[in-house]
Amino acid sequence: MPFSALDLRAVHLPPSVRQLRQEVRDFLTAERAAGTVLGRPDSWLTGWDPAFTRRLARRGWVGMTLPRAYGGGGRSDLERYVVIEELLAAGAPVSAHWVADRQAGPTILRHGTEAQRHRFLPRIAAGTCFFSIGMSERDSGSDLASVQTRAERTDGGWRLTGTKMWTGGAHVNDHAIVLARTHDAEDRHAGLSQFLVDLRDPRVHVEPIRLLSGEHTFNSCRLEGVELAPDALLGRPGDGWRQVTGELALERSGPERFLSTLPLLTALVEQVRRNGGGDLGQQARVGRLTARLSSLRQLSLGVATALAAGRPADVQAALVKDLGTRFEGELVNEVREILPTAARSDATPGSYPELLATAILHAPGYTLRGGTNEILRSIITRGQERSR
Ligand SMILES: Cc1cc2nc3c(=O)[nH]c(=O)nc-3n(C[C@H](O)[C@H](O)[C@H](O)COP(=O)(O)OP(=O)(O)OC[C@H]3O[C@@H](n4cnc5c(N)ncnc54)[C@H](O)[C@@H]3O)c2cc1C
Repeated sequence: MPFSALDLRAVHLPPSVRQLRQEVRDFLTAERAAGTVLGRPDSWLTGWDPAFTRRLARRGWVGMTLPRAYGGGGRSDLERYVVIEELLAAGAPVSAHWVADRQAGPTILRHGTEAQRHRFLPRIAAGTCFFSIGMSERDSGSDLASVQTRAERTDGGWRLTGTKMWTGGAHVNDHAIVLARTHDAEDRHAGLSQFLVDLRDPRVHVEPIRLLSGEHTFNSCRLEGVELAPDALLGRPGDGWRQVTGELALERSGPERFLSTLPLLTALVEQVRRNGGGDLGQQARVGRLTARLSSLRQLSLGVATALAAGRPADVQAALVKDLGTRFEGELVNEVREILPTAARSDATPGSYPELLATAILHAPGYTLRGGTNEILRSIITRGQERSR
């Protein structure tokens, strides 16, 4: 197919990461034995465990790619990829630091002042400073440039007013990077800016929006004239669109976009093994899922490598996220057919019926969060047209 926008190279992980992978696996085996890792689907969204985060951070597995000068690990993107794919595959509780590690830290490194870097990055890498994403609003999800939240200049800095929606972790995190309009412009993409907002400010009102499962992850986040110091501005005023696009690339391109439900497949295989190994039909279906998983992983590694090398990969990332998130949902349906089981939210935490219930109840979000699949497909189509 003459489609250069889909150029993704095969990636062979260097032997040096084998030892790192083994270290993570050993750590996870010990954590599993201690009962802290239950192999949950979607653990990067709802697996809130700051103590687990701090144990990871002590091993240098949070803020791995941040420079050592700011408390980070100075490691490569591929090394981070290996660590996070092991954590996701194990269904480890990583949601506390997920956004800080994946996008807030790198965004502050890229656009922040020296003072902002020193203020936030060492704490992110220590696993003691957690971030939320303050992008979406009630009528501004796919059409993010239409955000109504405004930041006005004041004598003392800025005043922020508006309501953010679907703000994951705002009730437990420390800060959010908030996208707001700072001036009106004919081009809607101009006039936007990003701000570092303290979520404990008394003028930030956080209210829960519960998932189908009843879990509290999301919030609406009312910003009622929040007074911000001048140094709350992240990057240059009016550069918010360019910055947020870079942040979205980090948000969309990782292995969490195809591995969210892998722990369920692992649980299924264990269950089938316990039942005597399953029949040929069951084995073939597990084999097909595993083959798809393996291809997705190659594609995802291709995106990670391209981004790490500074090559543009937004079209490829959109494609892999579309394929990957559809796979996450299809895996749940396949698993239900391979081993029909009544899903039960009230079953023992970590048991197969309970994991199945979690995966089913989280499924509507897989293809929405971080940009819906329809939006991703328009990015892919535009990329295809550009490369013709
Ligand atoms: C689990 C989860 C976690 C999230 N976490 C956060 C978070 O922490 N912070 C945050 O800021 N946001 C978060 N979001 C919000 C998420 O980014 C938005 O839900 C998403 O961008 C879609 O926006 P929307 O919900 O407003 O839907 P809309 O944009 O209103 O879209 C509704 C439907 O219309 C379709 N549609 C819209 N425009 C077009 C178009 N131009 N062409 C074709 N189809 C179109 C969409 O694909 C979708 O199917 C989260 C969402 C989920 C589900």
